[in-house]
Amino acid sequence: MKVQRTLAPTAAPVSIWTAVRAGKGLWGRGTTRDRIEIELRQYFGANDVLLVSSGKAALTLILLALARTSPRRRIVMPAYTCYSVPSSVIKAGLEVVPCDVDPRTLDFNFQDLERVLDDHTLCVLSTHLFGASADTARVMTLCRNRGIIVIEDAAQAFGGTVEGRRIGSIGDVAFFSLGRGKNVSCGSGGIVVARSESLATRLREEYAQWPDPSFGERMRTWVEVIMTALFLRPWLYWFPAGLPFLGLGETKFDTSFALARMDDVRASLLDGWRERLECLNHRRGKAATKLLGMMAGMKDVWPLPRRETQYLRLPVLVRDHIVKDTLCRLGCEEGLGISRSYPATIAHIPELQGRIAVGPFPGAQTVVDRLVTLPIHEFVNDQDRVRIISTIKRSTQVSSCMPEAEVRGENRAHSASSCSIL
Ligand SMILES: *Cc1c(COP(=O)(O)O)cnc(C)c1O
Repeated sequence: MKVQRTLAPTAAPVSIWTAVRAGKGLWGRGTTRDRIEIELRQYFGANDVLLVSSGKAALTLILLALARTSPRRRIVMPAYTCYSVPSSVIKAGLEVVPCDVDPRTLDFNFQDLERVLDDHTLCVLSTHLFGASADTARVMTLCRNRGIIVIEDAAQAFGGTVEGRRIGSIGDVAFFSLGRGKNVSCGSGGIVVARSESLATRLREEYAQWPDPSFGERMRTWVEVIMTALFLRPWLYWFPAGLPFLGLGETKFDTSFALARMDDVRASLLDGWRERLECLNHRRGKAATKLLGMMAGMKDVWPLPRRETQYLRLPVLVRDHIVKDTLCRLGCEEGLGISRSYPATIAHIPELQGRIAVGPFPGAQTVVDRLVTLPIHEFVNDQDRVRIISTIKRSTQVSSCMPEAEVRGENRAHSASSCSIL
């Protein structure tokens, strides 16, 4: 553990005062939640909106509702995505089908998508990874006449738009995450957005069976929210980041998460969500523009093409895995919030071996080997950005004059330790 200014890779800060005040929700009976659901329904122009305990729970709710009325069992998703996504699919008793991605867009490789779709496909997850908009409209066209439902995984893209349409209102149904590292956060939480009435009815039926969190769970949430509000600050973040048992930012495959409605502690934290979301996204946009300007013309570094929507973190491809490993190690040592993102393709998740296609998924593997994300949240200041850029320059130079095996061995060992902070 190193006591120094330390940036989280991503952050949606909540003021301590707001966190403390959310304690009024401890005795709430869901009225705050119901009110926020109505605000969200209007924002999305959706038929229905449901608030649940996490993004994973939101996806599981959708899958359980869809699977109940269909014999189809296959869920198609990008081979490079958050491990929570296959976790939800397994939790719902369904089958994970990976599809390769295009490393230049992080969206599906559409040729591969046409290959994997078949009569057993229940739905496709069009994923706006890091906030980079996916071409959901194209997936809709492919699925329209085949009875396949399109789910937007908008966990990292709350507030984004594509061609004037809000992300989350393009697919048949969508979900968002309100977890710690997302666009706007209430500690943990998820939003389900249903466009059509028939889907909304099925989702409501499933939701009606879900419990409200107990008083003890609400209390735990509240304490967690206050701790997060406090320790996310760069002058304190070194502390939780250095505690391995917290597993901050680790990407785990885990099916033991709760399936519950959102409680009023978390819902209270969403008071004024729209202004906060717009403000946070605006600041991220400005920070991304600054970093992109500083990277213009740099060798061996390729930021993903900027699209209409807003990034949650800034995704950048570097020359090879040596540069990536060096950069992540140096970035970690200096507390710069540079992240290696997901450690492998979902086809390599140990718990899924034997029940998932092994690939190869060359596009997804390229992303695993070469993608880093740079922090663009409001705690990143100009001085941090100068240090981030000079660290990138150093890692592209250092690694080209070191024997590959040496760099590799050293860094692989290192990345397994405390510096896997996402
Ligand atoms: C975070 C995330 C999820 C899951 O959301 P949680 O609220 O953490 O359960 C799903 N998909 C993607 C792409 C995510 O980033």
